[in-house]
Amino acid sequence: MNYNYLIVGSGLYGATIAQQAKKAGKSVLVIDKRPNVGGNIYTEKVEGINVHKYGAHIFHTNNKEVWDYVTSFVDFNRFTNSPVANYKGELYSMPFNMYTFNKMWGVVTPEEAAAKIEEQKKEITGEPKNLEEQAISLVGKDIFEKLIKGYTEKQWGRDCKDLPAFIIKRLPVRLTFDNNYFNALYQGIPVGGYTKMVANMLDDSSLSGSIEVRLGVDYLASSDAKEELDSQAEKVVYTGAIDAYFDYKLGNLEYRSVRFETETLDIPNFQGNAAVNYTDAKTPWTRIIEHKWFEFGKDEDGNDLPKTVISREYSSEWKPGDEPYYPVNDEKNGALYAQYKELADAERKVIFGGRLGEYKYYDMDAVVAAALDCAANNI
Ligand code: UDP
Repeated sequence: MNYNYLIVGSGLYGATIAQQAKKAGKSVLVIDKRPNVGGNIYTEKVEGINVHKYGAHIFHTNNKEVWDYVTSFVDFNRFTNSPVANYKGELYSMPFNMYTFNKMWGVVTPEEAAAKIEEQKKEITGEPKNLEEQAISLVGKDIFEKLIKGYTEKQWGRDCKDLPAFIIKRLPVRLTFDNNYFNALYQGIPVGGYTKMVANMLDDSSLSGSIEVRLGVDYLASSDAKEELDSQAEKVVYTGAIDAYFDYKLGNLEYRSVRFETETLDIPNFQGNAAVNYTDAKTPWTRIIEHKWFEFGKDEDGNDLPKTVISREYSSEWKPGDEPYYPVNDEKNGALYAQYKELADAERKVIFGGRLGEYKYYDMDAVVAAALDCAANNI
């Protein structure tokens, strides 16, 4: 055995476990099939701008332990996420708050807004059974129609009646003038990008153990390759897709994939905000990210950047060969996942973790919390 731990995947879950193992004096080998560390939080510099190559990530948490942990590797800026929704050229503030209600209905006071929602949610009686019912009961029919239905159906490729209610509960609804997308005590973006944060996690020279990183290594390329890698470590932490690990033998879990069309524009400001959601059904992309606004349009020395980089996001049903991004946590997939989980539990040497390893729509802070927990229990 050359290593105590083999960690498959250098995303946030893998990097946290690796760092904790090293801290405990263990030897760790981290492998990743991509040519870089960071998994889907990877950022890449283009024209001085940290581009979120695999989708926008805004760190937010109420968990002080997690915040203290991530900020020990890199400084975070004061970015606060406030997406704008564009419905056929009408702009609305997100999440749903007094600015949104005022624009939608002309209401001025919280009491008027509450009365409007009350009137529009009358049709929903009892516990909401799906995303559509949940959305209408939270914000009423108009907002559901203009700001939720089209976006959600593009994002998930499924009717809102066929989606679980919890997805829409991720978004706050407020009777105050507050455009902060998250209910979180702590929020920000790593200064210098997420890649720097992960690199620092994997390269903490103050710790006694060791971490070796090998990139471009595909753990599941063949059973021989997997066996050879497994034989090098006492324990394996696998952060890839759980169904892929078992060669899809029970059938594949469903995921949503995302295609990014990224462009550099020779103008300083395309949309004036990091995220603009296109909430109508017709526009083929779900949102456009303008990466420079995650860092206030400045380079590391505080200079204004002359160009801008934008990414249009197109959501699609995952098929073999695509990158899986979002687990589809409905009943059917939940039942299949439970079967895979049984197989995973029987793999004594392997821990399955992270969004793909646990088939769970985790936020980043929950990933870090779960990885710290896993490390505390197993290392
Ligand atoms: N959502 C919506 N309209 C929006 C933004 C979000 O209806 O303008 C819904 C949609 O169903 C989405 C869910 O809220 O899947 C969660 O959105 P979030 O921004 O948390 O998704 P993520 O950033 O993880 O893609």
